[in-house]
Amino acid sequence: MKTEEIKKMQHRIGVTADGFWGPESIAACRAHLRGLMPKLCEWPKADGASLRAFYGRPGDEGNLVSFAFPYPVFYGGKRVTKGRCHWKVKDSLLRILTRIGNIHGEERGIMEEAEDYGGIYNYRNKRGGSTLSVHAWGAAIDLDADDNSFRETWPVQADMPLEIMEEFAREGWVSAGAFWGYDAMHFQATR
Ligand SMILES: [Zn+2]
Repeated sequence: MKTEEIKKMQHRIGVTADGFWGPESIAACRAHLRGLMPKLCEWPKADGASLRAFYGRPGDEGNLVSFAFPYPVFYGGKRVTKGRCHWKVKDSLLRILTRIGNIHGEERGIMEEAEDYGGIYNYRNKRGGSTLSVHAWGAAIDLDADDNSFRETWPVQADMPLEIMEEFAREGWVSAGAFWGYDAMHFQATR
């Protein structure tokens, strides 16, 4: 993100808008998003045992359901109309995407990220890790992977807008960029 965009975001989360994304901004941003999350979160903790207990066996495609995207999305530049996710997250994910489209539909800077779909279900390990990714249960989604990679720090290098993270937070989903500081393409339905 450009310094001006970081300053705007700092203003939004209530810290000094100096363009420097340090410990104060990181903590304030997490608190801002946590503040939007429902008090009673239905999602499991992110460890393997909790994920299995809540979502079932990873890689079980019998738990996946398809849904129609509420606005046009593109995968690798190609238009896709349907996605597949775990049945337990479908309604929540649809509410998130619908709100993004309804609230930010006219804002190209936000929609360009939201329309660049990077996938949901994928039976694989976490990037750079030996444990399964939440994608293996179909309970995580990636958006705008090119500009929000595993190696790029958020928000200095990566550019996922806070507004998108806010909509995921309202449904209790965790945004990797804000909570881990990298992999800002990634959102998952865990606590
Ligand atoms: Zn991901």
